[in-house]
Amino acid sequence: MELAGRTAIVTGASSGIGAVTVRRLREAGVRVVGGARRVERIDADVALRLDVTDEEGARAFVADAVDALGGGIDILYNNAGLALGRAPFWESTPEDEAAVVHTNVDGAMRMTRLCLPHIRDGGHILFTGSVAGRQAYPNGASYIAAKFGLRGFVYALREDLLGRPIRITTVDAGLVTGTEFSRTRFKGDERKAAAVYEGVDTPTADDVVDCVLFALTRPLHVNIDEIVMKALAQSSGARIVRRGEAS
Ligand code: NDP
Repeated sequence: MELAGRTAIVTGASSGIGAVTVRRLREAGVRVVGGARRVERIDADVALRLDVTDEEGARAFVADAVDALGGGIDILYNNAGLALGRAPFWESTPEDEAAVVHTNVDGAMRMTRLCLPHIRDGGHILFTGSVAGRQAYPNGASYIAAKFGLRGFVYALREDLLGRPIRITTVDAGLVTGTEFSRTRFKGDERKAAAVYEGVDTPTADDVVDCVLFALTRPLHVNIDEIVMKALAQSSGARIVRRGEAS
């Protein structure tokens, strides 16, 4: 599948995996609208403010994005997401739970619903899931619930779209460096954020985007449903062998 000349919307385009996706898609000749709340940080053909938890704002974003793309969407990458906190569930707050679930689950559902009428035949909808949506680990309940929920939505969407020429892919990654994920999760505590990646050779955002581009460039009759990618030294969110540790 040739990417040059196609159009894309990427959510969570202001940093990390989304920002790298925008760059790599543009290098491949795709016209990209990037959305995020920190619009000033988006380096796309068109940068538009987007809060995926806000129905009216998301509706306006999609209308403006479709205009900017000339009327049709070939690629929608639902990548915006976050975790907040790394503590036992009894220490969770309703604010954090709401932000995590609304961003990762209903944000992706909302964007898919709003974009679907504009997605052309041969189009592709992608999601950034997580190994947290496949295997639970301690002290991450709301994020784990959200990414499991997202995976359920994507399976259901695949059923509803079956028979239509629109492909669906989820990339479920484990530890990924070069993003702001852990800084956000630990609410700006750089020491805790850095400790997550210590002693492990982790995949980068570029490694995740390699998976995205692999799925996008298969022939139209091939749907890559899911790609699960982890550091070699990680088997789950709970089990990581760091340098110097016994396995
Ligand atoms: P980053 O924190 O670097 O990027 C997250 C992006 O999501 C930012 O662009 C942020 O933009 C955007 N975002 C957050 N909330 C909203 C919102 N309400 N509306 C619109 N955009 C929003 O982290 P990553 O690149 O790592 O994260 C990207 C995806 O990858 C997420 O879904 C995450 O769950 C997933 N993931 C990350 C892993 C990792 O270890 N890094 C592992 C597995 C999955 P802004 O704040 O400007 O709105």
